[in-house]
This record gives sequence, C-alpha cells and structure tokens, in this order.
Amino acid sequence: MTVETAAQSAYIVAALLFILALAGLSKHETARAGNALGMAGMALALVATVALAAEHGIGGTAASLLVGATLVGAVIGLDRARRVQMTGMPELIALLHSFVGLAAVLVGWNGYLQVEGDLDGAEAHALRAEEMLGIHHAEVFIGVFIGAVTFTGSIVAFGKLSARMKSAPLMLPGKNMLNLGALAAFALLTVWFVLDPQLWLLVVVTAIALALGWHLVASIGGGDMPVVVSMLNSYSGWAAAAAGFLLENNLLIITGALVGSSGAYLSYIMCRAMNRSFLSVIAGGFGMESTTPGEVTQGEHHEVTAEQVADMLAEADSVIITPGYGMAVAQAQHGVAELTRKLRERGIEVRFGIHPVAGRLPGHMNVLLAEAKVPYDIVLELDEINDDFAHTSVVLVIGANDTVNPAAEDPDSPIAGMPVLTVWEAGQVVVFKRSMATGYAGVQNPLFFRDNTSMLFGDAKQRVDDILAALATRSQTGPTLTATG
Ligand code: NDP
Repeated sequence: MTVETAAQSAYIVAALLFILALAGLSKHETARAGNALGMAGMALALVATVALAAEHGIGGTAASLLVGATLVGAVIGLDRARRVQMTGMPELIALLHSFVGLAAVLVGWNGYLQVEGDLDGAEAHALRAEEMLGIHHAEVFIGVFIGAVTFTGSIVAFGKLSARMKSAPLMLPGKNMLNLGALAAFALLTVWFVLDPQLWLLVVVTAIALALGWHLVASIGGGDMPVVVSMLNSYSGWAAAAAGFLLENNLLIITGALVGSSGAYLSYIMCRAMNRSFLSVIAGGFGMESTTPGEVTQGEHHEVTAEQVADMLAEADSVIITPGYGMAVAQAQHGVAELTRKLRERGIEVRFGIHPVAGRLPGHMNVLLAEAKVPYDIVLELDEINDDFAHTSVVLVIGANDTVNPAAEDPDSPIAGMPVLTVWEAGQVVVFKRSMATGYAGVQNPLFFRDNTSMLFGDAKQRVDDILAALATRSQTGPTLTATG
C-alpha cells in the first residue's frame, strides 16, 4: 500500500471518528467518550497529513515545517486550555475561529499566487488541461471571502465577549443596505474574477469581506451573542471546507462541512430558543429596533439576609434553582450542589431550571452542575420546568438576570419575545447578585421590584455558604425538621 492510499484510508477513518464524536457530544452521559473519539480522529488525521507531506515534500522540508508548527501550536493550545476559565471559553472559541478564517484567507491567496500568478507554471497547465481553471478561480475567491468574514467577525465577537468592546449593537445608518451591497458586490466580483482573474480583484474582495465581517458582528447586540458564536463556528467550518477544496484535501472538506452544518443547525436551535429569526441574526440584527436598552424600571426592591433565606428554605415544600452567569463567575456550583443535598435530605423537592442561553455558552450551566455532581435527573430544561413555577414555594435565582427577565413579555423591550424562565410565578423568589446592575443584554429587570421577590446581595458563593451555615444551626435546634435521607 502506498503512503497516499494509507493516508486517504486514515482520512476516512478520521472522518468517521469525527461523526461519532459529534454524536457522543450530544448527550451529557456520552460527551466524554465523544471528546475522546474526536481527539483520536484528529491525532490520526495529523499523522496522515505529516506522512503525505513527507511523501510529497522536497527533502522532507514540508514535513519538518508541519511537525514544528504543530508542536508550537500544541504547546500554546495546551497552555491556554489549561488556564482558561469556563466563563472565558466563548471568547477563546471566538479567537480560535478567527485563526480558521485567517488560514482560509492565506490558503486562498496562496492558491492564486501559485496558479494564476504563475500562468506558465505546471499547476496552471494541469488545471487548464482539465478545464478546471474556472472552478479553481471560484474556489479561491469564495474561500478568501468566507475566510475574511470569519476572521474579522470572530475578532469582534472576541472583543465583545471579553468586554474589550461595548456589547451594544453598532447602528450605522442604512446598515442593512451596506450588508446587502457587500454581498451583491461579492457576487459580481466573483463572476468577473472567474472570467478574468486579476490580483486587484482579490485585494478588493478581501477588503470588502474584512469590512463585512466586522460590521455584521458589530451590529449584533449582546443578547444575540450566543447565536453569533455558533454562527461564526459555522462560518469557520465553511471556510475550512473552502480551503479543503483548494488544497484537494478530502478530510478538510468533510470536517469543514461537519462543522459548518452542525454550527448552522445549532444557531437555528438557539434562535428558536431565543425567539429570534435566524435570518435576522445572520444578517447582523436585520430588523432589530434601535431602541436603547437599559431603560430603568424604577421601584422599591426588598432586601433579605442569608439567615432569612435559610428560614424560607427550611419551610419550603419545593425549590427550583435557576443558575446563570453569576454562579459561574462566583464558582458557586459546589456550594449550590451541597445546598441541594441538604435540602433534599430534609425532604424538600429541589430541581434546577436551565435556560438554553444561561451563562456564556450553550450548556455552560449543565457542565458546572455536572462537575459539582448534581444528579442529571433534577436538572431540567426551560420547556420542561416553566409550567411548574406556579406550584413552587421558593425559587433561587443564582447569578441569572436576562434569562429570568419578565420584560421579555413587553413588546417594546429589546429582549421582547425571548423565552424566559417564569420564576415570578413562584411563591417567593430570591435573587442572588452583587448589585442592582443589569445583565449581559443591558436591560433592566422588573423582577427585582416585584412584591414576592427579595434581593440577597453579595458574591453568590459567599451567600450560598452563609445559607448552608445558617441551615446547619437550624437542623441542630429546629424542632420541626427531620432528616429523611
Ligand atoms: P446575565 O449576564 O444576564 O446576568 C448575570 C448576573 O450575575 C448579573 O446580573 C450579575 O449581577 C450577576 N453576578 C455576576 N457575578 C456575580 C457574583 N460573583 N455573585 C453573584 N452574582 C453575580 O446572565 P444569564 O445567565 O441570566 O443570561 C445570559 C446572558 O448572556 C444572556 O443575555 C445571553 O444572551 C448572554 N450570552 C449567552 C451565551 C450562551 O451561549 N449561553 C453566550 C454569550 C452571551 P451583579 O453584577 O449585580 O452581581
């Protein structure tokens, strides 16, 4: 068997491993196995690619460069992965997407310079002989366009998620026309380039795509950011697939298509969960009202102490905990898991209500709760739990804000129509946060001013620990409490 055949066979096995990895990642129970399969597929793909480079490279230079670059990348990647906090994961992912975009731009430019830039060269002759030159031109142009949009779009997403840029949407006059104009220009320039490839056309399309990527994501507001992250994931997949066509690498085409389509599907599911139209988010907030978020709902709020919350809980029949980004920031999940155990020991029903975009990336809360060993069967999705709040004694909103905001029912609110956890229907609601500040979307929350809502200010981990301490004293002295195990 030649190296070429062995490598292509390895690519097919790697592609199957990637598909199995995606299947595994779709459930908590199999996610770890899914990750392992993905890693095995990537290791196999890397070995096959190095073997191919060694086979085709001149004097092994290509393979040595590849191995050297892979090692440097692996060291940086391992270090970043070890140090990144769960809350910093979306911005790291956004940054990684920008690398895929940049790589696709470089591959496209290289494809042009190698073939069209050297029209007497062997590659151009071979392509012309096969009458494939037109297709090659289109591949270069489309690959550079998608790559450049992904590159700047991801950098803006990184800036917004890491608070280096303001999360409010950029509202340029005629912004929809700017986006549509850029797309129309791209279509026209593609035809031109296929018929008559010239370097300046490639320069122009690169500039247009860089500006479009920047503008698309800059005009999306904070509330829609989760969709943007998965949308850029999708774009990076298509950029990789385009690079795969140029490099004639089947595995890159398959992997790019897997990432592209799964990212697009995830974006669609998230749009449905947030009641946003997929197209309007993709088009950079198309049709979004330019109302300024953060209109303050004034009113009186009511404050409680950890001891009072412990009393409330001790008397409750049922408790629902709705965690959010603040629980992740405070790293309160272990205390929350301990509180859950203590309350269940007292015979109180405890469940979790998880909003699809709670935290800063899909599944963020599920991962934290699983890490703290909260049983899966009491962790419920929004659809599964929303009807139960009305029959619940106490809801603990731990570091969540936008995901429990009744303003979503107000048609004039910037988050209008977003499905939210209807926590206010419960007997009592306790909100754990440090101040009266707004959440990620920058929208004030009328929940805080409701009669049945109490604010427990302070760091969520500290307050949960205070409640645990207060409950411990009650179990020693409280006559009415019996542990049921
Ligand atoms: P929010 O960002 O709406 O609210 C988090 C709350 O936690 C804040 O009000 C903050 O209030 C509080 N908080 C922060 N630190 C602490 C702490 N140490 N202790 C106690 N409280 C704390 O979070 P949600 O989870 O409710 O909503 C997620 C938001 O993020 C949505 O707008 C969503 O669209 C967006 N988003 C989600 C992504 C996803 O995929 N899940 C990705 C990107 C964005 P205070 O400062 O007063 O303490």
